[in-house]
Amino acid sequence: MTGERAASPSTAVVVAVGSELLTPHKSDTNSLFITERLNAIGIGVVQKLVAGDEPTGLARALRYAMSVADLVIVTGGLGPTADDVTRDVAAELLGAPLEESAAIVEAIRARFTARGLEMPEINRRQAAVPRGAEILENPGGTAPGLWLTAGNSRLVLLPGPPRELRPMFDRLVTRRLASAAGGRRVQRRVIRTTGRTESHVDELARPIYEPLAAGQPPVETTILASLGQIDLHMSTVGADPEAGARALDAAVGELAGTLGGCVVSTDGRSLPEVVGELLRGRGARVAVAESCTGGLIASRLTDVPGSSAYVHAGWVLYSNEAKVALGVASELIETHGAVSEPVAEAMAVAARAAAGVEFGLAVTGIAGPGGATPAKPVGTVCLALAGSEASPRVRRVRLPGDRERVKFQASQAALDLLRRALLRGATGS
Ligand code: AMP
Ligand code: MG
Repeated sequence: MTGERAASPSTAVVVAVGSELLTPHKSDTNSLFITERLNAIGIGVVQKLVAGDEPTGLARALRYAMSVADLVIVTGGLGPTADDVTRDVAAELLGAPLEESAAIVEAIRARFTARGLEMPEINRRQAAVPRGAEILENPGGTAPGLWLTAGNSRLVLLPGPPRELRPMFDRLVTRRLASAAGGRRVQRRVIRTTGRTESHVDELARPIYEPLAAGQPPVETTILASLGQIDLHMSTVGADPEAGARALDAAVGELAGTLGGCVVSTDGRSLPEVVGELLRGRGARVAVAESCTGGLIASRLTDVPGSSAYVHAGWVLYSNEAKVALGVASELIETHGAVSEPVAEAMAVAARAAAGVEFGLAVTGIAGPGGATPAKPVGTVCLALAGSEASPRVRRVRLPGDRERVKFQASQAALDLLRRALLRGATGS
């Protein structure tokens, strides 16, 4: 192992070390952070491994990782206790004897002294450095990181706690790798949509994004479906960031134009954020009356900082009595049922009036598994938006999935009803 200059890496393997990561109680999030940071400098993660705190298995994992990519980022297992074996296994694998660094011992001792404590002897293990390794300082903890080079391979060892790892990665690792990566950069854009299915979005978008993949620079597109939301992720990789940005801007413009009204944002903003900005822009406030969503719409709206500017009040009107108490006529419920367009409309009107604000938004539906009738199967949801117009906007939708999924999609549909009304110029007053 020497400090000789290795060729620039284009791919990496991330190895998460920790027996707790092999239990159902803890998942590896470090690799998500690391992947994001590596992608941003043009390095793709081609495989991820999770290994327990056990030397034989870890050695096998590291050997394999180094056979796959010339950059291996390892997190975890650098602690002072006997179950922290990453340092020893890496040293053995590279044939580099461990040598105690007096400077690290002193740095660790100083951390303890600062807290009025004496350094336990076991912490000396954290000062063991494989010969030839570079030390990556860890201001947030006792375990320094280690940067090892062997031929074309780089093996980077970092501590497991995310609050130690993240600043170290940004301060020490990214820069070294970015200069080695030859200025290659990945740029991304995301078009967020709601109200259309994944296949429908793909049908519209494919004729546009397929040719872009063969363009210069190529724009890669992937579709990411989550509950009530379909996102198009576009990226370019290249040494010319301006050409990449231009290609992405053009792609976003063309795709968003074709997808039309279902586009929520092209800058990463969420639906509640977009709705909030539209309300703020119009100087309008909203009150919500929720039955099957149980407060989820109000919760999602108020997840956005500053939402007190436009969220006025919310009611969870779960029982018929509660609906009537806010102003829904009991005859409406008797005639049409609690889950019906007329009741949704009356809830929206009542919320708007009771709050004295520009918009009243209401949802009533059957989240399941019980409560369904042949005419109103599980997932039937009625939505209404009352504004200044004489007749409120009312919609009835049929949402797939279990209770939790129906609730979330109902909140999404309600927020989208408000978003579309605001985009069409509704002011509520
Ligand atoms: P270690 O460096 O192995 O002593 O890790 C200390 C702590 O960091 C562990 O107990 C976990 O709580 C956390 N940790 C370690 N690895 C990961 C990981 N891959 N993702 C998220 N948290 C982790
Ligand atoms: Mg550990």
